[in-house]
Amino acid sequence: VFSNVDRAPEDPILGVTVAYNNDPSPAKLNLGVGAYRTEVVSSAYFLSIFIEGKPLVLDVVRRAEQQLVNDPSRVKEYIPIAGLADFNKLSAKLILGADSFCPIYDHVLIGSPAIQESRVATIQCLSGTGSLRVGAEFLKKHYHQCVIFIPKPTWGNHPKVFNLAGLSVEYYRYYDPATRGLDFQGLLEDLGAAPSGAIVLLHACAHNPTGVDPTSEQWEKIRQLIRSKSLLPFFDSAYQGFASGSLDTDAHSVRTFVADGGECLIAQSYAKNMGLYGERVGALSIVCKSADVASKVESQVKLVVRPMYSSPPIHGASIVATILKSSDMYNDWTIELKGMADRIISMRQQLFEALQAKGTPGDWSHIIKQIGMFTFTGLNKEQVAFMTKEYHIYMTSDGRISMAGLSTKTVPHLVDAIHAAVTR
Ligand code: PMP
Repeated sequence: VFSNVDRAPEDPILGVTVAYNNDPSPAKLNLGVGAYRTEVVSSAYFLSIFIEGKPLVLDVVRRAEQQLVNDPSRVKEYIPIAGLADFNKLSAKLILGADSFCPIYDHVLIGSPAIQESRVATIQCLSGTGSLRVGAEFLKKHYHQCVIFIPKPTWGNHPKVFNLAGLSVEYYRYYDPATRGLDFQGLLEDLGAAPSGAIVLLHACAHNPTGVDPTSEQWEKIRQLIRSKSLLPFFDSAYQGFASGSLDTDAHSVRTFVADGGECLIAQSYAKNMGLYGERVGALSIVCKSADVASKVESQVKLVVRPMYSSPPIHGASIVATILKSSDMYNDWTIELKGMADRIISMRQQLFEALQAKGTPGDWSHIIKQIGMFTFTGLNKEQVAFMTKEYHIYMTSDGRISMAGLSTKTVPHLVDAIHAAVTR
């Protein structure tokens, strides 16, 4: 009965790794996937073991897991449809911010007015993607507008997530290839022309794939426009702390919108900032006008979740909650997180300097100006195909490279390939 089923194409991002895995060359380099890789993994006692380019499990995550395993009171019962209550509270505080100490968790700050006024409905979801999808399904059912404006370009999964939830997807101008920066005028014009009430997807920080973020002055203008037109902001926060190394700095855009008292949605992911990719841990927060509205909204989001996957998994969210509620572990996490962010920033510098030293034609300063995991190199499809064929370097065809997949050792190989591609 399934003989007429056509073969689907590989996912354009995950397919890069499939092609990489099939390449027998020892020189191959995977800069396609958005996952952190190490420069140096560990030094054990007097013996230093250097292992490059490997996935990293944070020490603090290992410790939290150990603590969970050693706790005999922990069971594997179903958790509520909305997820672990502690995890939800702490996740909302992490993104919305805080300014005073909480009596229960000594180091955790409370203070976002929206949290104090119980106006935030937070639901544990399946990482960032699941949070976006649940939020979109809720909007389709309960919001009066079903148009969502997403930046051009954006993460390849965004249009699919929103279309399949029944929203209709439109684009707003975001990236200007001429300046390799933000097309701020185009953005304002397109959002200014959006129908009243339209949903607007915003990358909270470290825009994927361009690495181009608005400045805080530009964010403020975007906020004023969105509020004046009663558009509904939907933040995708997949890189909090991972972009600048500071959890607060990377949450700045979200917090300015929440500070004005208006509504918004936020999809949070712990994939990158805690390295919990495969655990699928994330949260959807819906900031409402009142506590009463928030509790009704939460009840409806649960109706979205129940027939979809019933309830979320327990393990990853328990790790996050364990870390966020212990002052020691929280501190250790921020240190490890900054270490990852700093390594990526240093790779930007090294790549830029190496291209300059080689005299590769072109202005490569965007490599150090862009933010977060990715550099949007400006290399075109043909140049990318050439680099893959001749140098075994894998990346998405739009010229996006993951800085987290690069190391001091592999920079020269990448520079040779870029140089050959642009001088060919
Ligand atoms: N949004 C953006 C912008 C992303 O880059 C990603 C991960 N690549 C996600 C959401 C979702 O990631 P996950 O579902 O793994 O949390």
